[in-house]
Amino acid sequence: MNPIRSCIGCRKRENPTMLLRVVCVEGKLFPDPRAIAPGRGAWVHQKCAGKAVEHGSFTRAYRCGAQCDGSELLHYINEMDAKDMKLK
Ligand SMILES: [Zn+2]
Repeated sequence: MNPIRSCIGCRKRENPTMLLRVVCVEGKLFPDPRAIAPGRGAWVHQKCAGKAVEHGSFTRAYRCGAQCDGSELLHYINEMDAKDMKLK
């Protein structure tokens, strides 16, 4: 059985296969789609990631104090969204 995780964007409890794992490395957020990166991870729906960055939800999740830089993550999310569009 898979453990249940909560999306840090909408707080909904969810099966991790529905969520994207995000890690914070030296103040920068990186997507970890295979959930293998070391360090503290936060889980978020793809559609919630942008809002979570905007609201500082990641910064709270990692307790890093300083604001996390979400530019890498947002770039990844944009590419994923673009791929989803093409499939439809
Ligand atoms: Zn969510």
